[in-house]
Amino acid sequence: MGVDVWVDAALGGVLGLLIGSFLNVVIYRLPKIMERQWATEAAAYRAHELGQEAPAAQEAFNLLTPRSRCQSCGHMVQWYENIPVLSYLFLRGRCSACKTRISVRYPLVEIATGVLFYFCVHRWGTTPTGFMWCGFSAALVALAFIDWDTTLLPDDITLPLLWAGLLASAMQWTNVPLYSSVVGAAAGYLSLWLVYWGFKLATGKEGMGYGDFKLFAALGAWFGWSALVPIILMSSVIGAIVGIALKIFSNLREGGYVPFGPFLVGAAFTAMIFGPHAIIESVLKLVGL
Ligand SMILES: [Zn+2]
Repeated sequence: MGVDVWVDAALGGVLGLLIGSFLNVVIYRLPKIMERQWATEAAAYRAHELGQEAPAAQEAFNLLTPRSRCQSCGHMVQWYENIPVLSYLFLRGRCSACKTRISVRYPLVEIATGVLFYFCVHRWGTTPTGFMWCGFSAALVALAFIDWDTTLLPDDITLPLLWAGLLASAMQWTNVPLYSSVVGAAAGYLSLWLVYWGFKLATGKEGMGYGDFKLFAALGAWFGWSALVPIILMSSVIGAIVGIALKIFSNLREGGYVPFGPFLVGAAFTAMIFGPHAIIESVLKLVGL
């Protein structure tokens, strides 16, 4: 393996750190942007019902404006305080103005994205395949944290992810045949949709949300239909382990609801790194089947 492979992978890792920094903004702001949009639409609808004029638009709030501020003192984050990982270390994990602790999650999201990008470029090179899997990784990191925080899986991420998976197959950027990709997307969505309605009719409760169906459909598009069962098995195992761990440390959130998205993401990364069938096959081998 030539030296340039490592150089490319290292550059990929640095790009991942920068994208990870942007993902921190997405994870924090996208749910707030969605809430604002719902509130605006609801207000416009009420105004329409009453025959009034729609309320004036609020000041701009999106992924780029306004600039990032400290959440406790409002200190404007300077560019040199915004360098992935390094700034966190340099600031010793505290706001430079008010010394409030900055969550260790920010550098961890950056490092995780950096490692995933490094892996993708090292495995697939600076090719469309490599870049597609980098994009896949970034989308999944954002989804996992947003779902964990808010139990939402935004359509703004799951739907482009689904279409990108189908496109990657059609362009032969992944080695999944288009047929398998399309069937995977449809079967992924419909299987969880059926489970949802079966569960709801039987118990009157909602076990998961439509976002989970869309994410599972996207994974079907990226890995093909034959990966669906291994992915759902792996995510259930990861979910059970995390659930037990949370119970032991009596940290289970109010109402005991744990979102399923982060476990689907965990299974998806396992599938990306080892191949969708590798883990199941080694388990079967281990028990002598
Ligand atoms: Zn501050």
